[in-house]
Amino acid sequence: MSELGHMEGRLAAAGLSDIAERLDGGARLGLADGVRLFDCPDLLALGWLANRERERRHGDRACFNHNIRIEATNVCVASCLFCSFARLEPGDEGSYTMSLEQVWDKLRRRRDEPLTEVHVVNGLHPDLPFSYYTDLLSGFKRIRPDVHLKCFTAVEIAFFADLYGKTDEQVLAELMEAGLDSLPGGGAEIFAERVRRKICHDKCGTDRYLAIHRAAHRLGMRSNVTMLYGHIETAEERVDHMLRARALQDETGGFQAFIPLAFHPDNNQMRKLPAPTASDTLRVHAVARLMLDNIPHVKAFWIATGVEVAQTSLWFGVDDLDGTVQEERIYHMAGARTPEALTTAAIRRLIEAAGRTPVERDTLYNVVAGDVVQ
Ligand code: SF4
Repeated sequence: MSELGHMEGRLAAAGLSDIAERLDGGARLGLADGVRLFDCPDLLALGWLANRERERRHGDRACFNHNIRIEATNVCVASCLFCSFARLEPGDEGSYTMSLEQVWDKLRRRRDEPLTEVHVVNGLHPDLPFSYYTDLLSGFKRIRPDVHLKCFTAVEIAFFADLYGKTDEQVLAELMEAGLDSLPGGGAEIFAERVRRKICHDKCGTDRYLAIHRAAHRLGMRSNVTMLYGHIETAEERVDHMLRARALQDETGGFQAFIPLAFHPDNNQMRKLPAPTASDTLRVHAVARLMLDNIPHVKAFWIATGVEVAQTSLWFGVDDLDGTVQEERIYHMAGARTPEALTTAAIRRLIEAAGRTPVERDTLYNVVAGDVVQ
């Protein structure tokens, strides 16, 4: 039997033939389809379908970027149950807030590296002036004018607006003026109100998260969207989350990547829950590829998934492995055992060993000189 014939039999046995046919016809999947994909017992059949969509878009390419990640403060007034990073007050044990010189120094020390992106996310600090954030951006641009600044989640933007008496749009415009180039996707968690009320009731809600991304896209910025999975959410709530991201993408086209983020249970208030398994992680990325027909990239954040699972996910719908990262704290304070950085050579090796072609990209998915896209 040919491979295709074998897979057709397998898809039929898994109850996915009609979904495969509809995807072939260019149809969109709906909520019930997504739940069926999560319920499908045959992970390889699901992965095969997701890989087919991935290869239609990206062939065998797998991209990554050369970036650094900086978390300038972990002081945060919010109380998300899954968070191991935040400390409520300045002065609490384990809390820190970097001076601007310390933040800039992180980039200065890498001034000569060919990195293309600085990624900044922080706790919601109640006492810093707005100028801390605008100066942070303009200082980065002074040190490396060519570097792309992907900074501040929608949750931070909402917090700045409320704290400093501005509209969300004003905050975005003033940060852009200071050097902001795009927004990361963090803070989305799970969009369903039932879950949000339980795990992150006191920060920016779903409608505002989406409105801030809409506003950023209208101002000409790109952004990403994440989904925190593997805690108390249902399959239906995962699919609903993907559909809300897809609906905004239909409007604006501004999302570049969908990034599932694995819940990590160490040192937080949800520590009684188990971490998601490797098969669940592969399934989430595969379903995302199949549901999100209008978001170009599905990214595995290797810090959260583990390096080996991220590598495997390149056959389960994923075409992007994030970047070199360096000095990540949020997941490591939640028990991640992954390294804090990978070199570009190590990421290339991982991708090649998985049988894919590595392509270094910048934040906007332009190919970085030296890599050739067929
Ligand atoms: S997830 Fe973000 S907003 Fe929530 S407590 Fe942690 S740092 Fe604060």
